[in-house]
Amino acid sequence: MKFLKVNINTAAPRDPEASILLIYTGGTIGMVSEKQDEHLVPFDFSEVIHRVPEMRQFKVMLTVLSLDPPIDSSNIEVEHWIKLAQIIQVNYQEYDGFVILHGTDTMAYSASALSFLLENLGKPVIFTGAQVPIGRMRTDARRNLITALEIASAYRMGKPLVPEVSIFFNTLLLRGNRSTKVESRHFNAFHSGKYPQLAKAGIDIEYNHSVILPPPVQPLQVYQQLESQVAVLKLFPGINKSVVEAILKAKGLQGLVLETFGSGNAPTYPWFLKLLEQAVDKGMTILNVSQCEEGEVRQGQYETSLYLKEMGVVGGSDISTEAAVTKLMFVLAQKKNKEEIAHLLAHDLRGEMTLRMPNEK
Ligand code: ASP
Repeated sequence: MKFLKVNINTAAPRDPEASILLIYTGGTIGMVSEKQDEHLVPFDFSEVIHRVPEMRQFKVMLTVLSLDPPIDSSNIEVEHWIKLAQIIQVNYQEYDGFVILHGTDTMAYSASALSFLLENLGKPVIFTGAQVPIGRMRTDARRNLITALEIASAYRMGKPLVPEVSIFFNTLLLRGNRSTKVESRHFNAFHSGKYPQLAKAGIDIEYNHSVILPPPVQPLQVYQQLESQVAVLKLFPGINKSVVEAILKAKGLQGLVLETFGSGNAPTYPWFLKLLEQAVDKGMTILNVSQCEEGEVRQGQYETSLYLKEMGVVGGSDISTEAAVTKLMFVLAQKKNKEEIAHLLAHDLRGEMTLRMPNEK
């Protein structure tokens, strides 16, 4: 996997107010269709920059790195996330902020993954993209890119306003690991139903300071490993035993995100409970996440979740599936013991879930 430096022709300002590293991975923002009505494919970033002349007016020193070749974000892999974290680590001291241009389809997963890989992050890392390619008249790319750059360079008294991994899209700045793509046709592609927006961009950018993570006390720590042997099992009424069995017995599988009903409820069919119990006994980690857009998992509230709690399934509170998958990858990669894994999963690490009282499970 290669990232190349793109020589862009933005006149470097004499006294820049900030320095930003822009990392282009692909996605609709930079796509073209070679012939009219043909499918969209990513294209070179040097083309993108020509279409945003406003960027030249920014008092920002901009460096651009581009994934070569850029990709549709459906092709993003764990290795890309680790590489992005490494790029931020290497360039951390030199830049005030980082903007990652990324396809919208998997942006919430990537932002979640980066939030876990970058512990004690003290600078903005902002993902953005577009629903309409930058070369088209009605593109949303220009506004998203310009606003993301503005937020990434927003400092007050030497401190960044948003020292965390976030997604800026349309008008909203959302915490990365609280975001979900909810819309594929309109411009408001992302939603964060269980956590307030970090900022809203209208005529001014209004920051919601009280919900933004405070700058860390400890120095940045970058993790370089994720465990990809995880799966998601979304429950539905009438789910078939052989399907559940095939997933739970998949070779090498170490972790499962179980998408349950309501406040964390699952069927109590004897075959289902037995399969889950066997998997947990063999060392599989299961994280219970709700299918609901709002509310949280409360294992033990109903009999249909009490069993899960008793067999050692971990309750994921109000974590999103995107954050749950990447958190599981992150925690499992640390090769801790069963209790430590369960402890980390049940606790808030990067603002991805609402803190619970110590005696709640
Ligand atoms: N398929 C595109 C991607 O995720 C969609 C987008 O960027 O909006 O790369």
